Amino acid sequence: MNAPVPALSSAAQSFISSKHGLYIGGEWVKSLSEETIDIVDPATGGVIAKSAAAGSADVDKAVAAARAAFDSGPWAEMTGMQRGRLISKFAEKLEELADELAEIEAIDCGKPVTYAKYVDVGLSATIYHYYSGWASKISGETVGVSMPGDFHAYTMREPVGVVAAIAPWNFPLVLTAYKLAPLLATGCTAIIKPSELTPLSSLRLAQIAEEVGFPPGVINVVTGYGAAAGQALVEHPGVDKVAFTGSVETGKKIVQSATGNLKRVTLELGGKSPMIVLPDADLEKTIPGLAQAIFFHQGQVCTAGTRLYVHNSIHDQVLEGIAEASKGLKIGHGLDPETTMGPLISSGQLQKVMGYLDEGKASGAELVCGGGRVGECGFFMEPTVLAGTTNDMSVSCQEIFGPVLAAQGYDDDSLDAIAAKANDSIFGLAASIWTRDISAAHKLAKKVKAGSVWINQHNFYDPALPFGGYKQSGWGREEGSEAIKTFTEVKAVCAAL
Ligand code: NAD
Repeated sequence: MNAPVPALSSAAQSFISSKHGLYIGGEWVKSLSEETIDIVDPATGGVIAKSAAAGSADVDKAVAAARAAFDSGPWAEMTGMQRGRLISKFAEKLEELADELAEIEAIDCGKPVTYAKYVDVGLSATIYHYYSGWASKISGETVGVSMPGDFHAYTMREPVGVVAAIAPWNFPLVLTAYKLAPLLATGCTAIIKPSELTPLSSLRLAQIAEEVGFPPGVINVVTGYGAAAGQALVEHPGVDKVAFTGSVETGKKIVQSATGNLKRVTLELGGKSPMIVLPDADLEKTIPGLAQAIFFHQGQVCTAGTRLYVHNSIHDQVLEGIAEASKGLKIGHGLDPETTMGPLISSGQLQKVMGYLDEGKASGAELVCGGGRVGECGFFMEPTVLAGTTNDMSVSCQEIFGPVLAAQGYDDDSLDAIAAKANDSIFGLAASIWTRDISAAHKLAKKVKAGSVWINQHNFYDPALPFGGYKQSGWGREEGSEAIKTFTEVKAVCAAL
């Protein structure tokens, strides 16, 4: 796109153009390697800032700071209520700074600023508010034991320790909140490692944490490449748990690297979420819902509705409707408040998505709309729909992470047959079912193998609902009470009376 780049507010501009270091033990420090990484605006391809490329010596310092804060600092002495108050203040500060944070996320990740404000900042603040309440409500239970004798037995939940929170580039603020909010509620300490592509909002979070009054070492931010800073964190014997969101490929490496001290690992990985449209669906609501499910954030969403299974009686109408809805998207720079679709994250990602598209067409898929790059500058792509796909095509079975819908019609409307198609995937992160038949919807919800199933909607997130994947979409759950479990160890205490 060649339109002029909208200006940043002075607050966002001054933060982005400042010199970025690492936040370790309550201090801003340079990376010991002194190497830096260019931060690129994906809407222009231009460099907007530089971040520090941390190496293993920086990671050692960050782990030592997080360890000290966990073992002996004021944080270790705080009650749940005191931790909750700090988390609550943090959430309020995010709300106060929503405009600035949304601009940072818009230019760093290529998001429309209006969505960034309500989705990225708004949802993050809600997550911190939700877990601020949990901090004072974490408890064990008394247990009636079965062995003969007189005993008093109970369980306690204790924080797991130092956590490496590793996030991808698509939702830096939200996916950090998924980890940071519950780990703070339980009394753990954190080393945040954002993606090398989008480190800015995590660095701003560290400033906010400092201002709000988190003791030094409780929240540390280490920027750098995955193979260097990320891997050093995962291998580090001083780290007790890795909370990871990213690709399946990296997730598998993390499992192997974490074996040294058998650290706890939770993995939120990729997806290829099916959307199932039954013949009686309310198309007036379903068509815009499907379009939003695949094109939101350019399809760079782990739960994006990428596979469409639609009954042949309404197939053409639904596909034409989605193609028509795609014309209403305004492609442009995320900082333009009119923009509803930004660029892909990088030139590499654009090439990868185009490669999948070529493979899909070569294997017989029919292009219904889109398929092209938009402009010469930045990494923009048209919203794209492919029809006539089959489950064995790469566009249907691999994670594309771009605005490409792989659609296919079906005739056999037995729920078992539909579920079998939807479940024919190595992934199992999310799925949606679109129908007026509430009984069929719930029967299908039971048959679909996915961590989240949405009915007559897609991409619904709430901090109270557990989130995570079946199969290769991950290990464990984030959010809700499940997250409290994953950031705590359970201790059983039993006294002979
Ligand atoms: P990625 O796996 O390339 O990187 C994710 C993070 O891991 C980055 O911070 C990276 O620096 C770090 N990393 C890379 N190699 C590492 C290593 N060897 N050791 C430790 N850390 C390492 O993923 P990405 O390209 O940034 O993000 C896109 C992927 O994330 C997609 O597959 C998407 O589905 C997935 N994702 C999943 C969820 C979910 O909740 N399930 C949410 C968003 C994104």
